[in-house]
Amino acid sequence: MLDKFIQYALHPVILISVLSAWLLIDSPFIFFGTVIGLHVVLGTLEYVRPARQAWVSPALNKLSALVLVVMLFVASTMVGVLYDNQLLGPLSQVSGLLGLNFWPHSWPLLVQAFMIFLASEFIWYWIHRAEHKWTFVWRLSGHGAHHSFKQLNALNFGLNHPLELFFLALPAALIGMLFGVGEAALGATILLVTQASIAHSNLNMSSKWIDLFFTTNRHHIGHHSMVLEQSNTNYGCATLIWDRLFGTFIDGDTQECGTGPTEPTLLQKLVMPIREPRDTTIAPS
Ligand SMILES: [Zn+2]
Repeated sequence: MLDKFIQYALHPVILISVLSAWLLIDSPFIFFGTVIGLHVVLGTLEYVRPARQAWVSPALNKLSALVLVVMLFVASTMVGVLYDNQLLGPLSQVSGLLGLNFWPHSWPLLVQAFMIFLASEFIWYWIHRAEHKWTFVWRLSGHGAHHSFKQLNALNFGLNHPLELFFLALPAALIGMLFGVGEAALGATILLVTQASIAHSNLNMSSKWIDLFFTTNRHHIGHHSMVLEQSNTNYGCATLIWDRLFGTFIDGDTQECGTGPTEPTLLQKLVMPIREPRDTTIAPS
């Protein structure tokens, strides 16, 4: 019964729950409350019903991953403040010159949130594709570090090289500064984080219809494949719409994840912008 629920219902139930919580609960803690609740559910199920038993992390590994995710989250908030200070003025001028003040603020918040979600994923799709296409972008962003894990779980959504935070924070900053989108941005951010967490989770979710729009973990784990051709597909971490539109969507199972046969140490992951692991199979050349 639980297996069937995870397989067919968990993904849509989570999406409906987090969006309902955002729309119905008026609290300054809604973002943190939602993300913490989401990871308690996903983390518990990953222990009780993992899709791949070999990917179940020992508690100490999970705790150290959690500490890293929290540290990186604080750092990404600082990057957002930096963007606000440095880019808000120039981009507001660009927005004024181009007359980009057409955002439909009076439309329902849920519709606006989905518009921001799609726009953000459109920008991220091309940034992500560039990371996999060109060596200098791959190195500059440290994107290899995110791909270097041999085993994935929901927390991997937030395990990126610190340099990549400057890339990850860019879509939201650009959209917010150019269009001034307001409170719907919170709903979009909750949806993006929820989707990214599900996309990395070690659970057997295979709702067939949901991948017409949202990224499923099966398709995103495919992107984490150590086979180059498979890794260069399914760039959308939250939606597969742009992959389907631009011809990079594939539907297939993954045998093995990572940048190569062995997982680099934490130090090796940190120096990946200047030194690629010798056994890498997916770095652009
Ligand atoms: Zn990637």
